[in-house]
Amino acid sequence: MSWDSVVERIRIFLVESPIKMARLQGVGNVKGSVKRVLLEVTSADGIVGWGEAAPWEVFTGTPEAAFSALDIYLRPLILGAPIKRVRELMARMDKMLVGHGEAKAAVEMALLDILGKATGLSVADLLGGRVRDRIPLSFSIADPDFDADLERMRAMVPAGHTVFKMKTGVKPHAEELRILETMRGEFGERIDLRLDFNQALTPFGAMKILRDVDAFRPTFIEQPVPRRHLDAMAGFAAALDTPILADESCFDAVDLMEVVRRQAADAISVKIMKCGGLMKAQSLMAIADTAGLPGYGGTLWEGGIALAAGTQLIAATPGISLGCEFYMPHHVLTEDVLEERIANSAGHVIVPDGPGLGISISEASLRGNAKILAER
Ligand SMILES: [Mg+2]
Repeated sequence: MSWDSVVERIRIFLVESPIKMARLQGVGNVKGSVKRVLLEVTSADGIVGWGEAAPWEVFTGTPEAAFSALDIYLRPLILGAPIKRVRELMARMDKMLVGHGEAKAAVEMALLDILGKATGLSVADLLGGRVRDRIPLSFSIADPDFDADLERMRAMVPAGHTVFKMKTGVKPHAEELRILETMRGEFGERIDLRLDFNQALTPFGAMKILRDVDAFRPTFIEQPVPRRHLDAMAGFAAALDTPILADESCFDAVDLMEVVRRQAADAISVKIMKCGGLMKAQSLMAIADTAGLPGYGGTLWEGGIALAAGTQLIAATPGISLGCEFYMPHHVLTEDVLEERIANSAGHVIVPDGPGLGISISEASLRGNAKILAER
């Protein structure tokens, strides 16, 4: 007899987590704390699943808006929904509420978590099964004080952590070139170095800056110019040896179709919070695979639940082959809601073995570790 149940109860939490290092991103510089929305869903037979919406106000939206979307607009659709019919609920939510992909992604995560726990399968199993058990982990070089990051690298590289992504276009160009020189000088080819401009450059004059940084042999250059400048991105992709990766220019499948049509990038950053869910991310990657663009597991400011979902997604999606930047729980958040963090080992995220998202959260761990700003 197959398992079947419906959603009986949901609880929504707006939480704030302190962070232990400042992050200089060029836009939306983060210091002090980050806010997220957590969703607890309970099935009629008592299985609990968790989801997380982690918007970032300069990128996709606000946590307060995600909280309201879940509380006011999506709650009536979620309550009573058959848990096995995840795709149907996603379609109904899209019809009833425009945007708010982060809130919808939280619902999908929680339902898949329940479905996995009910059947003994992981979310990666539900998404087609694993193609990888560990994912290369990228740490972002984004401390306002580069010497602090350099000290971190000196500890991390010998421990096997080799992937680093520097946030560029933030400090004066000459200073950033000196930082690149320092990193290549000290670590040579032992590090896999990537650059992320977070849209910092203008098309006018960008090529010269990109040629300068190209000399340091990065693996890719992420989003050098604002989201809409696809022709400029195409120009860089054609002119430079280094692949260009689209992040802000590629939220979802509609964006990706345009990126492919205009040959505006060589790779894409995939974020559950941009495209609005795990299944949508897999649909996106189907297009990217067809066009020959590998994916990279990007983040906004997710905590352990959303990163567990991202880990399960990458485990089950062959095309997301450029690693991930899920470094927040081990390196940045001082506290989180998981009872045990997802393991990291020798510069990799280890895909958890348990059912569902493979994590455990309890009322006690939530209350003990996160500051709850609102709950409904
Ligand atoms: Mg980015």
